[in-house]
Amino acid sequence: MNLNKMNIDRRKLVKLAGASLATAGLGSALGVIGGCGDGASEPPAPAPTKGVMGKNGKRVLPWSNWSGLQRCQPSLRVAPADEAELAQMIGQSKQAIRFVGSGHSFNALVPTDQTLMSLARLRGIESIDKPAKQVNVWAGTTLAELGEPLWKDGLSIANMPDIDRQALAGAIATSTHGAGESFGSLSSMVTGMRLVNAEGEVIECSADKNSDLFNAARTSMGTLGAVSQIKMQLTDALKLKRRQWIMPFEEALERVDELRADNRNFEFFALPHTDYVFAIVHNETDEDPNIENRYSEEDSYETFRMMSEVYDWVPGFMRHRLGNMAARTVEPETEIGRAFEIFSNTRDIRNNEMEYSLPAELAPACIREMMDTIRKENINIVFPIEYRYAKADNIWLSPFYQRTTCSISVHQFIDRDHRPYFDRMETILRKYEGRPHPGKLHSLSHKELSLLYPRFNDFLRIRKEMDPQGKFLNDFVSKLLGVV
Ligand SMILES: Cc1cc2nc3c(=O)[nH]c(=O)nc-3n(C[C@H](O)[C@H](O)[C@H](O)COP(=O)(O)OP(=O)(O)OC[C@H]3O[C@@H](n4cnc5c(N)ncnc54)[C@H](O)[C@@H]3O)c2cc1C
Repeated sequence: MNLNKMNIDRRKLVKLAGASLATAGLGSALGVIGGCGDGASEPPAPAPTKGVMGKNGKRVLPWSNWSGLQRCQPSLRVAPADEAELAQMIGQSKQAIRFVGSGHSFNALVPTDQTLMSLARLRGIESIDKPAKQVNVWAGTTLAELGEPLWKDGLSIANMPDIDRQALAGAIATSTHGAGESFGSLSSMVTGMRLVNAEGEVIECSADKNSDLFNAARTSMGTLGAVSQIKMQLTDALKLKRRQWIMPFEEALERVDELRADNRNFEFFALPHTDYVFAIVHNETDEDPNIENRYSEEDSYETFRMMSEVYDWVPGFMRHRLGNMAARTVEPETEIGRAFEIFSNTRDIRNNEMEYSLPAELAPACIREMMDTIRKENINIVFPIEYRYAKADNIWLSPFYQRTTCSISVHQFIDRDHRPYFDRMETILRKYEGRPHPGKLHSLSHKELSLLYPRFNDFLRIRKEMDPQGKFLNDFVSKLLGVV
């Protein structure tokens, strides 16, 4: 096999394997277990494009999430202009309301056939407290909109996820996080919030005021009311140097404690069917930025799509050989830039994703078992598996609640059936005491979740106080929380 013909150059594999989103990868789920099967691919259902006529005579467009897996036809879509209108709309609504940020969650948090409410018009920075290094932000502001203005005031978000398209309230609702064991999720950086409950009342919370609500609201999956404003703790403006390189899987596991301790941010992408990982570290620097094309439109999709199709055809031992050959072509790379430019990338390959966070000390054994299983069972997947540490917090429904964790995530192309691969990996991730990412795919019931989160019942108590009639529920979150 001529790898050059497959167009596997370093930049594309980097993009695939790492720097970005859950990255690309060649993934093929055909015959997920046991080689090249006939494949039960499941392209997302075609979107209804016309929408329906709303009661006010205006057309209501359908909604779908980033990956297209989740779709719905709301009967009403609203976007209040300010907090007063938000409170009025919620207080007067006779039907259920689900909130939407940027639609980047993979599971069915958002879909509703009733009211879909966006806070995209509640946007921008309200105030900055430079001495305290804190910012007050309207909930619909995207992470991308915060980088430049904070930088101008000498401030940065200390750690970020691998994209910046999320609305701040959406990111916080699911404990969105980056990599690095000294840093918690974005939710853990929140120091205060304003929420509108089901009665349309505005309630403030922080560690000192309504502290139970604060511990529940920092990861609420949109079930406690509309978050209108968020106060966040920041850090001094940061420049970071990113180094990324291919290293043997065994070496990565042997050196994992050293790498996580010695670097500000450390993560890797394990490359299925190979003996390698793609490692990424970030450290603070004073050197001049050299980052270019941060939101490069380069299309790695075709390359990896092609590779996945090759994987469909070749026998298992060839996947290993081809994968190793491709991995060895990847050159190390160093980039320097402002933190918000370095942390977040574009994702031009649409995928579905599942992620579990497990006790940090169990993670090396877990990823080894996942990689061994893929190899032994000849699972046809090329998408790299993402491996990132995060700091413990005290947020009731956070996957990081009271334990330092390592989050491991798996991905699949949107037009391939993710379920057989995700189901197989989920049994392993659960064996190692994993807690699912609140915004990604998983199969846990409310009983299973309640055993993983010691404050689950406290969360349910706060939910009932904020929304006694279940105005903020849809089928998915009702089942998840066990609320009838
Ligand atoms: C390409 C890609 C890369 C990703 N990378 C990462 C990553 O690196 N790390 C990580 O942890 N996750 C990651 N995610 C997951 C993503 O960060 C979360 O799912 C996040 O919640 C999405 O934010 P959103 O603004 O799109 O929210 P949505 O998906 O629109 O909504 C998420 C939840 O927030 C609620 N919500 C939204 N706005 C409000 C509001 N104003 N008040 C109350 N509730 C509200 C919604 O009801 C819903 O329950 C990624 C997802 C994608 C598609």
